[in-house]
Amino acid sequence: MIFSESYHRFIDELKKNTGQDPNQCYQCAKCSAGCPVVAAMDLLPHQVIRYLQLGLLGELEESRTPWICASCFTCAARCPRDLDLARLMEGVRLAVLRLREGNRLSPADLELTPEQLEKLPAQALVSSFRKYAK
Ligand code: SF4
Ligand code: SF4
Repeated sequence: MIFSESYHRFIDELKKNTGQDPNQCYQCAKCSAGCPVVAAMDLLPHQVIRYLQLGLLGELEESRTPWICASCFTCAARCPRDLDLARLMEGVRLAVLRLREGNRLSPADLELTPEQLEKLPAQALVSSFRKYAK
């Protein structure tokens, strides 16, 4: 199978952001069998990894699953390949946000009054930059 340049960029960034390599997964599905929120997912956790392996990024962008994931780490504890699927889900969310929104947030663009800045939780600000800025 020949993957596009954008796929390689996506996977390289995912690996860099999460420290996980989706290609280590051998699709045993133990993660999906233990996930407490699969009933609400449109792709099972092991299918998300399969889609990553196959380069089906458009389908992943449309999927509800990465947003449903509760980051409970049950899958990571069960995985015989020591893959941290919760981190991969976070990586996919991050990639999708960047894909949809671009790098639209920069400190120079912030138009907050001193009163608003005072009320804004520092954590919210930091995680916004983490999600929206490269
Ligand atoms: S438990 Fe691990 S190896 Fe098995 S399908 Fe899930 S991520 Fe892949
Ligand atoms: S971390 Fe996400 S995918 Fe893994 S078991 Fe928990 S809810 Fe399911």
